[in-house]
Amino acid sequence: MATVVGIDLGTTNSLVAALDGGQPWVIPDEAGELLLPSVVGTNAQGQLLVGQAALRQFAAAPERTVRSIKRQMGSDGQVRLDEKPYSPEEISALILRSLKQRAEAALEDTVEQAVITVPAYFTDAQRQATKAAGEIAGLEVLQILNEPTAAALVFDSRSDETQRLLVYDLGGGTFDVSIVEITGPVTEVLASHGNNRLGGDDFDRLLQRLLGERVEQEHGQPLPRDAALEARLLQAAERAKIELSERSRVAVREPYLFSEGDTPVHLDTELRREELEALVRPLLRDTLEAIDRALADASLKPADLDRVILVGGSTRMPLVQELVEQHLGGVAVNSFEPDRCVALGAALQAGVLNGEEVETFLVDVTPHSLGIATAMETELGLIPNIFSTIIPRNTVIPVSRSKLYYTMRDGQQLVRIEVSQGEQLNADENVPLGHFDVEGLPDRPAGDVAIEVQFGFDLNGILTVTASETSSGKQEQLVVNKSSIQRLASHELKHSRNQIDTLFASLVEQMDEAADEDDQEDNDKENIHAR
Ligand code: AMP
Repeated sequence: MATVVGIDLGTTNSLVAALDGGQPWVIPDEAGELLLPSVVGTNAQGQLLVGQAALRQFAAAPERTVRSIKRQMGSDGQVRLDEKPYSPEEISALILRSLKQRAEAALEDTVEQAVITVPAYFTDAQRQATKAAGEIAGLEVLQILNEPTAAALVFDSRSDETQRLLVYDLGGGTFDVSIVEITGPVTEVLASHGNNRLGGDDFDRLLQRLLGERVEQEHGQPLPRDAALEARLLQAAERAKIELSERSRVAVREPYLFSEGDTPVHLDTELRREELEALVRPLLRDTLEAIDRALADASLKPADLDRVILVGGSTRMPLVQELVEQHLGGVAVNSFEPDRCVALGAALQAGVLNGEEVETFLVDVTPHSLGIATAMETELGLIPNIFSTIIPRNTVIPVSRSKLYYTMRDGQQLVRIEVSQGEQLNADENVPLGHFDVEGLPDRPAGDVAIEVQFGFDLNGILTVTASETSSGKQEQLVVNKSSIQRLASHELKHSRNQIDTLFASLVEQMDEAADEDDQEDNDKENIHAR
């Protein structure tokens, strides 16, 4: 029997997934790459290039390369490749055919049927064009599935109770937010908003400009206008952006960018996560407004949501998660393989339509919030022993998150990292998991020494906490094994909302109590300062 596949036909990247033993998996190419850049071109000899090869030639040969064709689906427009006109369906069909071939090679079987995903806001004409592209590529399109619905399927929402999910999808070139209601097998998109010109590519361009300005400042000369140089800066910017999702600072080096007379000019600088965040924050604020509009259209409040799902590669940025969490106060915000989950959901749906046995796809989550004790400066004064959450409860695992903290006393030589789990604002009231010290800090004024605390929680339930002093890289680590950390089955998640409501009520109470405590000095000594 021929295999059916699920296809995420994206603006920037596309993926193909299939079921194996009832579980979905994304099919890689021979080089192990999962994402196929949605780029089509022809080389100087007129041969067809699809994916990475086409993307590589884009800077050098834009007239022979087509990107982001998804934006033109459903229009009568034509694109030219090597002087020949093509319809958007035909270009998309080339991408789909390449994915079909990839799947057939990996599965050693023919692939004739597919579920293809599209944004919830796609019009009928855009959906028809996508279906036509599938047919041109030799695929029978079993269903055109909404992307947020596909993502929701991965989160095992097929319980009998009605669940409302908000899917926040920030990719390379587009942003969408959708509110999906699921009751048993019935899924409905209640509202959808977005901006199909906003995404990680914009962040790259902002960072590219910053890098360019740094080179100009250092050499006192404007950068030469040169497409290859700009492409290198843009690639360096994207690499740095991706690294900054894991680390608080990165070195950016591009040797021999250009030369001034006989002198070569290199890019050699350091970027901090805060610098990137300051650049992208205004764009992310727009996405929060779109959340509010979608909620208003669906006549819902944040508290009516059972879960928020983050989709799209750009949601790997810690700031995205943080802002969405803050904005929706208390709703569980989850992500699972954000750049793959639409394809995985499409494969699940393809399996269901094909009558296959589909396993419930269980996503494992952290049962409690994990964090450390800190002191916090508030309008009410300095409050010690505040629990600073690094991994919020109900976060899908595996997960790695980090936060920066600062010393609070001049010449502070030591910080103690006290790790605990729980939902109480008072760190003492949570369950302690262990502690360790980072000693020998540089002799600097309060607030000048930064400590990055990173929490990694793996699929085996092992928590690794690493604290590093950012200027010297000096670091200490604590490993907490799973016996201390209980896990929560996915069906228990329903209870979480009540508990979170209670948590918020107690948070307000405790802030009031803490304000009344006078004797804070002693407790403060070894706390680090969250800000
Ligand atoms: P997608 O359209 O979902 O494939 O997302 C692609 C976008 O996600 C690109 O702009 C990537 O640079 C961005 N991206 C991928 N991984 C990360 C990461 N770890 N941190 C920040 N952005 C990322």
